[in-house]
Amino acid sequence: MPNVSDRPRTYKKPALEDVDPITNYIPASVRDKFDERQMDRFKKLRKFVEFECLPLDTVYLQESTLFEHESDLETCPVIINLRKKLEAYQLHKMFVPMDQRGYDHSFNDNWEVVSMVEFAMIAFLAGRSVIASYLFHLDDLIDLGTIQVLLRNGCSNHDLWVQVIDELVSNNMKSCLMVSERDVSGSDALNVQTTCKIEGDDLNEEEATMTLNGTKWFIKDAGDSDIWLVLCVTEFDEGNIYRKHTLCLVNRNDLPPNSTRIEPIETNEAIGKFYEVQFKDCKVPLNIIGERGEGYQILQMKSSVTKLFQCLKLCGMGQESLRLSNKRAAERKVFGSKLQKSEYFKFDLAHWRIKIETCKLLCFNAAIKCDYEGVKAAREEIGMVKAVTPKEISSLVDWSIQLHGCYGLCSTQTPLSHMWQVSRSLRINDTPDESLISQLGRLEISNYNKFQKTYDQELTTLAGK
Ligand SMILES: Cc1cc2nc3c(=O)[nH]c(=O)nc-3n(C[C@H](O)[C@H](O)[C@H](O)COP(=O)(O)OP(=O)(O)OC[C@H]3O[C@@H](n4cnc5c(N)ncnc54)[C@H](O)[C@@H]3O)c2cc1C
Repeated sequence: MPNVSDRPRTYKKPALEDVDPITNYIPASVRDKFDERQMDRFKKLRKFVEFECLPLDTVYLQESTLFEHESDLETCPVIINLRKKLEAYQLHKMFVPMDQRGYDHSFNDNWEVVSMVEFAMIAFLAGRSVIASYLFHLDDLIDLGTIQVLLRNGCSNHDLWVQVIDELVSNNMKSCLMVSERDVSGSDALNVQTTCKIEGDDLNEEEATMTLNGTKWFIKDAGDSDIWLVLCVTEFDEGNIYRKHTLCLVNRNDLPPNSTRIEPIETNEAIGKFYEVQFKDCKVPLNIIGERGEGYQILQMKSSVTKLFQCLKLCGMGQESLRLSNKRAAERKVFGSKLQKSEYFKFDLAHWRIKIETCKLLCFNAAIKCDYEGVKAAREEIGMVKAVTPKEISSLVDWSIQLHGCYGLCSTQTPLSHMWQVSRSLRINDTPDESLISQLGRLEISNYNKFQKTYDQELTTLAGK
């Protein structure tokens, strides 16, 4: 009689990719957009997130609150370790999504321009983990947004343009965006009142200056950033309100003494550190992004792209929140039976599964349209994504917290309360829900009017034939 251990082993334990292939996470309608190399990258990313990041998320959340400055996060042991692993997974480059290819990035090896739909998949997969979101620059997408804005629109100082992109990509620099002001509604960037007087833009680069006056408010990481993108009124005599603002690029090293006051704002630190910044006759070298008077349009475009990817990150977060709920319901007994057996639970689970899928499909559809026709053409699709996703995902995370009871609400052993704050804050930050919905309504009416006018004209022409 042969020993049991001598029997041939035919059974091989399935790997995660066998039971839950990466294709489960890619909407069927976009699978043909990815080649083998991209699929391989997604598999690696998924493995990195599942095995290296998710198990450490709560440790990271606890450690990160101990640091005073966001730049200090790079000294966090968890991050140092994971940065090394990123190289082993060949995921260490910064991925920059652009709707058109052909950008010269030969001056730095640390980044790669990818299509919008490829980045959509990266944002969704990395969005599941708090640490992966940080490592893939998805936390607030400010630096990624700055790189995109600079690539798309250029800057009046070419050397600074190259230097800023280079340093941001290499993680040696941080940027922030200054739009909001205390005294006016931030829902509409046209309200911005901070002024910038430009002098000598007809002279050579070194002699031209800009002088800023005004106060910006609720600026994330301003105290920690080296480069400030400041929206200011520059075209004082311009009648068209859409052409009055310019996006100015301020290098913090150029600030004259006593020209700015930077005050931290007391806030809940879980969603970041915020500052009020006052400019008082702050005269710095002239650096503007794009053309004078184009600031509002540039900002609209930037906001569209960053919010689309933040919504994809939220879809990833929703996916993880659903997994945590499934796990809890499979383990927790209430009134004598597993929570998983409750009909309420099954109904809710199905409901939220459908919601995630709906948001994801809206996001991917918008990303594909950006690739085909550009971000501007996809503004309606992006508007829908932005109006729906943060609301749905924050409600889903709220449900997950409820399901976990006190453990979900108060404990730092789950990332749920962090997820809720992140998803909830996106309902206000970067244009509140109501403002987005109102914009969508206006767009719908304008589309209808255009259609009806043309239709009526064509009908009359046909009738006349
Ligand atoms: C987490 C976070 C990070 C932020 N980071 C930055 C940053 O880095 N830089 C920066 O410049 N700003 C930043 N902000 C500020 C943010 O951009 C503004 O809070 C946002 O634009 C809304 O402006 P507001 O707060 O002035 O609200 P308001 O404009 O005063 O709006 C208040 C409320 O009015 C309602 N409302 C608005 N429009 C309409 C409408 N058309 N119809 C009906 N109701 C409407 C909505 O309920 C809205 O929430 C951040 C905010 C948050 C929450």
